Amino acid sequence: MTSDALLRCRGLSAAVEEKAILHEVNLEVAQGQVHVLMGPNGAGKSTLGHVLMGDPAYEVTAGEIFFDGADITELAPDKRSRAGLFLSFQAPVEIPGVPLRSFLRAMMEGRGEKLKNKEFRRKTQELAETLDMDPAYLDRELGVGFSGGEKKKVEMLQLLLLQPKLAILDETDSGLDVDALSVVSHGMELYREACDGTLLIITHNTRILEHLNVDRVHVMVAGRVVAEGPATLIDEIDAQGFERYEAAPADAAESALR
Ligand code: ADP
Ligand code: MG
Repeated sequence: MTSDALLRCRGLSAAVEEKAILHEVNLEVAQGQVHVLMGPNGAGKSTLGHVLMGDPAYEVTAGEIFFDGADITELAPDKRSRAGLFLSFQAPVEIPGVPLRSFLRAMMEGRGEKLKNKEFRRKTQELAETLDMDPAYLDRELGVGFSGGEKKKVEMLQLLLLQPKLAILDETDSGLDVDALSVVSHGMELYREACDGTLLIITHNTRILEHLNVDRVHVMVAGRVVAEGPATLIDEIDAQGFERYEAAPADAAESALR
């Protein structure tokens, strides 16, 4: 998996406000695969998502990020997006006065896509219907008064419009209701079907994974990837929690001292 990995982090350490959060993270995701990142609250999962996108609030203090064959460690966020990286946000933006459709249009243009207006309208309309979303939403103000499920539909609409090479979906703390859960689950399936998309899903809600074949699970504790394994790891964690991994960093430190 080494050479054909779509995403590869090597020894990635990162800090926010001079506080070290990520410690020597190694992580590889191959094209077309579905990976899940799990871990207790505060482990650094969302931080990894932000660091991968190049969020300037987070400082890479060591290591490298390779994406699609290029070193993107120093690349600006908009260039990463153009290169095919996508991160969903736990709290989607509200922009009063800006219709959803205009926002989506700007997003596509920001990615360097040139779509004729008519074609764009047709495409967004079609995708809204696929997602069981009233197309009237496209004319509503972005995010204003959207329910949890509706916000998720917007997120999935973005995903299906952009068809990024890698989608990082951070669903950890968003308190998804049943409606929103099924939107995400369905959206991920559609994305996979549309472009053989690659997913890195950050979640506690293992129900959203039910319709996907998970290739690999990464467990993050205290800013480190402490375990990796096949999909069966999800059931183990569901049953046993993270306790045995939480002991792991200390054990590792101890054995390193020996
Ligand atoms: P997770 O997503 O695994 O719950 P986070 O990545 O959100 O964990 O947080 C990891 C740690 O980094 C926490 O201690 C959190 O307070 C801190 N952190 C994350 N983002 C910021 C930020 N923008 N400013 C200050 N601290 C942050
Ligand atoms: Mg988080």
